Amino acid sequence: MAGFVVKKLFQGFVSLHILHHAGEGPVFGSWLIEELAEHGYKLSPGTLYPILHHLEAVGLLEQYEETVTGKVRKYYKTTDLGRAELAEAKRYLAELTDEIDGGRDQAKGGTRS
Ligand SMILES: [Zn+2]
Repeated sequence: MAGFVVKKLFQGFVSLHILHHAGEGPVFGSWLIEELAEHGYKLSPGTLYPILHHLEAVGLLEQYEETVTGKVRKYYKTTDLGRAELAEAKRYLAELTDEIDGGRDQAKGGTRS
């Protein structure tokens, strides 16, 4: 991963991906690693799992276990709190992207006309 700012944002971006996908249906670690790799995030389990555990600890994700072909697999789902957090982050992201791209007319209301 690139420079200072990107590094700072990395965990946040990854967290938002997780909240998004785990909000659409239960997800598990190795699936997330593949999904995130498609977006250019190269994550090892050693990086992903602490993020998952942290999101769970603060109540944004909930976890349950299921045995799949004899192996216990941990699934994660986004909680209501997690959904609220994602929605809030989306507003900030949309506004920021909008400002950086200079496309403010597409923003809420489009105050210039
Ligand atoms: Zn994603």
